[in-house]
Amino acid sequence: MQINAMNSKAVPAILLSLLLMAIVYYYLSQPSSVSSRVIVSPCPTSCPTSEPKDRVPADVIPTGYVFHLETPDQSLAVTAHLKYSQPSIVKGRTDVVAVTPWLAPIVWEGTFNPVLLDSIYKPKKISIAVTVFAVGKYIMFLKNFLETAEQHFFVGFNVHVYVFTDRPKEVPEVKMADGRQLTVRLVPSSKRWQEISARRMELIQKLIDEQLRKNSDYIFCLDVDSKFHDRWGTESLGGLVAVIHPGYYLDNRSKFPYERRSASKAYVADGEGDFYYCGGAFGGILEEVYLLASTCRFNFEEDAKNGIEAAWQEESHLNRYMWINKPSKVLSPEYLWQDFKARNPEVKTIRFSGVIKNYADIRPNV
Ligand code: UDP
Repeated sequence: MQINAMNSKAVPAILLSLLLMAIVYYYLSQPSSVSSRVIVSPCPTSCPTSEPKDRVPADVIPTGYVFHLETPDQSLAVTAHLKYSQPSIVKGRTDVVAVTPWLAPIVWEGTFNPVLLDSIYKPKKISIAVTVFAVGKYIMFLKNFLETAEQHFFVGFNVHVYVFTDRPKEVPEVKMADGRQLTVRLVPSSKRWQEISARRMELIQKLIDEQLRKNSDYIFCLDVDSKFHDRWGTESLGGLVAVIHPGYYLDNRSKFPYERRSASKAYVADGEGDFYYCGGAFGGILEEVYLLASTCRFNFEEDAKNGIEAAWQEESHLNRYMWINKPSKVLSPEYLWQDFKARNPEVKTIRFSGVIKNYADIRPNV
């Protein structure tokens, strides 16, 4: 009797435990719904289809992943590796910080070996798309931009420049090296420069959707009123790439011109934020830039519905985005200086800079 009584109490308890275990198992086996961020395709367009034939087995490691940095043999003989100076972890630049608190590299002159990096990326046959907007009178900056890009931007790599303009007939003829090309995409004219700036994210998103997934691995989105002066190359490649604005990198973050109204989707509160990034240069792999562009566009449109225009339009939205979604590579202000600014001593070279311009002469409105 006693045993029977115990059984009649134990059976529901056992059933309940089984039910609980089943519920826990069910939840653990579901994919996480916390993160909706992209998963990058492990094999972009540049994936080699097969391994070189005479590799020794110990060297044969997966080469498909875009971030897999393999130093290839310089010839098919396995002994002929590239010779380069020994890296050090105690000697190097001491006047600048070369890593963020989330361990992304900050690229400064003297922190990388361009020959080594190029030798890693060259066999991958990567393709880099560039977007540049030249709407209205800004077409006047395009020639200089394109000519200097030929001299300094990913020289020796496949580069496809997409020019968005309302003046296709005024796009200059610039001789481009093998593997480099230009496509013109027509956009409507606008009476407000704010609108031109705002539509950029939407058009970048569309370009990735319609065109780039077929033919590009990386994208950089650059301001046209700028020119190259020195190398901008493989050292800048990364998942999500941001450029530190030259105007604020020595300032306390309370001085950064973030959007400070909490009603805006670009809001960054006092005491928050990492760096102030440029709206005039950003990039990365396609899926990261796609997420950035679609998020900024969505937030911009939400603001517009509420009658808000963020302090620095897309730059404000980009800054909020980069604060939440930390860039995996940060480019120092060498990568977008301003010609009217004297060069600071830590800036050993200027690679790309915004030219001096008179806004009243070139913008459709003030
Ligand atoms: N832009 C354009 N036409 C305009 C205004 C802007 O094509 O009338 C594009 C152009 O690519 C420019 C970028 O938007 O480089 C950013 O605009 P702007 O240089 O005026 O902004 P700033 O960086 O000076 O704040």
